[in-house]
Amino acid sequence: MDTRSAPLRLFNSLGRRVEDFTPAADGIVKLYTCGPTVYSYAHIGNLRAYTFADTLRRALLWKGLQVEHVINITDVGHAVAEAELGEDKLEVAAARERRSVEEIAAMYTEAFFADLDRLNILPAHHYPRATQYVDEMIEFAQRLVERGYTYEIESGLYFDTSKDPTYGELGLIDRNAQLEGARVEEVPGRRSKTDFALWRAEPPGQLRAMRWNSPWGWGAPGWHLECSVMSMLLLGEHFDIHTGGIDHRQLHHVNEIAQSEAYLGDGQPWVKFWLHNEFLQLDSAKISKSAGHVLTVSVLAEQGYHPLAYRLYLLGGHYRAQLEFTTSGLDSAQNTLRRLVRRTAALGELPSVTTVAEARAAAGDDEAAVRVIEQIDEAISSDLNTPRVLALLQESLRDQALTEQGQRAVVAASAAVLGLPFGTLTPADLEPKSELPAVDEAAVEQLVADREAARAARDWARADAIRAELTELGVQVTDTPEGPTWTRVS
Ligand code: AMP
Ligand code: ZN
Repeated sequence: MDTRSAPLRLFNSLGRRVEDFTPAADGIVKLYTCGPTVYSYAHIGNLRAYTFADTLRRALLWKGLQVEHVINITDVGHAVAEAELGEDKLEVAAARERRSVEEIAAMYTEAFFADLDRLNILPAHHYPRATQYVDEMIEFAQRLVERGYTYEIESGLYFDTSKDPTYGELGLIDRNAQLEGARVEEVPGRRSKTDFALWRAEPPGQLRAMRWNSPWGWGAPGWHLECSVMSMLLLGEHFDIHTGGIDHRQLHHVNEIAQSEAYLGDGQPWVKFWLHNEFLQLDSAKISKSAGHVLTVSVLAEQGYHPLAYRLYLLGGHYRAQLEFTTSGLDSAQNTLRRLVRRTAALGELPSVTTVAEARAAAGDDEAAVRVIEQIDEAISSDLNTPRVLALLQESLRDQALTEQGQRAVVAASAAVLGLPFGTLTPADLEPKSELPAVDEAAVEQLVADREAARAARDWARADAIRAELTELGVQVTDTPEGPTWTRVS
């Protein structure tokens, strides 16, 4: 870790507080991100989870750390029903689309990789498929059986959460209240609502599309098992950071922790840092594949939105804040990105920057630029404050005190931290496919700047006259704490 930079502080869901982050062992941060269930296209909400994990990874790289990143591919194990009984999501999709489960998994895995690429998300070092680790999952479950953490009922092998005194810490689950409350018996024989399937037995007389033999009969592994098994095999028994969407904090990750700590039995916390992104909301409803709204990056692209405008849109909010998806928000993100690309293109070739040390070096002796880079460092080190980084970038492009070299260093630093490849985009990539009449953007920028100057000089009459002129051109200006933004309106 670069010791001249701000300490990296991250909000740990375990304990619900911001803590200093240092990697466990050798300076290589081991990072695991719960990946997609490949039964459908990833919707834009799912992609918030991977954009967030990528922002975290870029922040670690920025601090001079190396990262080994795993994103799993759930191609078996995710049952349709909440109670983990019944068919697998992959089986249902295969029946619906008249394909094999393998074809379904392959098709949606490829689509997922294409989405990651379009959002400039760094590829993970490993993408383990659950179906390739079933033997290891069975061995893992066997150890839990030997240690007395399980019981077997008709529907399969279950983890007995009453055997784990710390069960539910991550989710702040009140065990006592839960045990006193009425037991919900939607799974016959299950002793507690929190007990979960390690092995889902095939119901008698049914031949499932996905089935393996096990000491508990034919069936398929439970969903939580795969993440514990694959993460430990690829990253080591204990590792640094585990991420996922906020919904996982209550159930999936609680169960991963319970079974992993029971398996290890060393009294140590399994993973030190748990980070969760808040949800993207669409029409105030959780955007979920099962709820039938499948809004994908491809759909946005068909509507004329660049995938990186969506990335910028996400980074304009903090990852721990809910974000309401609106097309007007996305319009303004695309406008902001287009303006940034135009201004940064005028600066010429950017230096290659990944780390804070490289950014500082690229600024040379432009002290004002070094100060901005330090502010970017503080912002990203402060639990990944990407909105602040964006604001700093925008301010510094207006700042007359910076040299061109300094501006190039600031842009390259922001590009590294935000994952927005300014150097490789052109304004034409970001033209909206819209019925609105074209405007001369350079002239609009000039008017917006003149209006700012008039406002700074408290010349309100002139500022209003310029606003009226912009309205005539079909441009609406909005003043924000980060300065004015504009969008085209009909
Ligand atoms: P799934 O493919 O359903 O297993 O979900 C993949 C990832 O997306 C998980 O980390 C979820 O927590 C996350 N996720 C699901 N819906 C949303 C949403 N609307 N906003 C943000 N993250 C989400
Ligand atoms: Zn997982």
